[in-house]
This record gives sequence, structure tokens and C-alpha cells, in this order.
Amino acid sequence: MTAKIRGIIFDLDDTLFDCTGQLTQPARRRAAQILASAHLDLSTETSYQQQVTLSQTHGSSEAIRILGAQYNIPANIVERALNAYNPHNVEAITPFPDVLPTLATLVRRSYQLALVTSGNPDRQREKIRLLGLCSYFSEGDNTLILHDDRKSSDKTPSLTQAAKALSLPYTQILCVGDKLTDEIATAKNLGMTTARMRHGRQKNSKPQTPSEQPDIEIDRISQLLPLLP
Ligand SMILES: [Mg+2]
Repeated sequence: MTAKIRGIIFDLDDTLFDCTGQLTQPARRRAAQILASAHLDLSTETSYQQQVTLSQTHGSSEAIRILGAQYNIPANIVERALNAYNPHNVEAITPFPDVLPTLATLVRRSYQLALVTSGNPDRQREKIRLLGLCSYFSEGDNTLILHDDRKSSDKTPSLTQAAKALSLPYTQILCVGDKLTDEIATAKNLGMTTARMRHGRQKNSKPQTPSEQPDIEIDRISQLLPLLP
């Protein structure tokens, strides 16, 4: 299945680093503390759990606004909670321990690499710098595509752009990501081979459609190495 692969497109959050553990959970806890401080009947733990539940359907920021309205929390405190959730600077983050050695090995084996990441482009760019990934992926040669998810949620144009930068047909590309909808289904619909990284929010999700069914499932990036000689 992977014999024809010559290029690999990676996702960033929860694929190359523990975004959920290093950024999302601490951010949610900061916001939970601020919201709880403004309401006697709301504990930090309840506020945290409700953010988790609400964010599944409304997204993380909207979850904080909904909680604010539900508990009649003053607008300035909701604003403080939102700022605590989305700080301007990204905190200290590190890649999964096997990521840098695995990327180095893949390059040595002559695979072409690209990264497509969704989110606020400035924030994603800063993460890539902090993670020490700049030598593998760059905006200059289009091997780093910053997909602004506030403009469109569809990753297809960014994956197409990355494939073009690699100068490879879709059938020779492996797409690696944690989200069944955003990465697996989108890449599979283009004709790429797909590998699902089981980490983060969608770790235990089951594919809902045939196109969400990944070709490969991994728990660590280095598990790709035996498949890509
Ligand atoms: Mg991800």
C-alpha cells in the first residue's frame, strides 16, 4: 500500500506535537478558573468539563461565551477568560520525542515532506518555530501551508497546494493527521493514501463514512518508518 509513496504531508496539532496536552488543556483550565471566580455556583472543574462538552459542537471560544451567558457572567470577565484561552504568545511546546529523528530519517530516505496546518496563521507559524520544524517546512517553497480556518474550514485547497509543491501525483502522497474529517476524508477524496495518528480530541472517534476510514493507523510518528523504506 505504501510502496508507491514518495511524499508525505503532515498535519501539525496533535500529529507532530501534543497540542491537546501542552496547549488546549492548560488553556481551558485557565479560562475555567476565571469563569468560576465570577460565579459562586460554578466550580473550576464544572466549568472545565462544560467547556469540553460544549466545544465539541460549538468550538472552544464559543463554548466560553455560552458558559458566560448561561451563568450571567459579566462581559469583561468572559473577555478575560477568552484572552486566557487564546494568549497572543504560544507557551513552551515540544514535538513528540520521536518526531525530529523520524523526519530526519524520512529525508535521508529521499521522501519529500510538507506540512499543512489549520488555525490562525501567525500562531501556527510561531508553533513551528518553537517546535524546531523550520528546517523541514518553509513557506518560501510551499512545503509549509498555513490554512486560515477562519476563512474556510475546507483543507482541500491547502492539500492541493502542498501536492503541487512536492510535484507528485496524489497517488504517491501519504497524508498523516489526527482528524478523520479534516485530514483523512479530505486527503482520501483527493486520492492520497492516509495515516491516522491516534491522539487528541478525536483519538477514540470511529469513522462515520467510508472516506473517513484511514489506510493506516498509528500511535507514534516513528511507526511510519517500517512502512516507508
Ligand atoms: Mg491536528
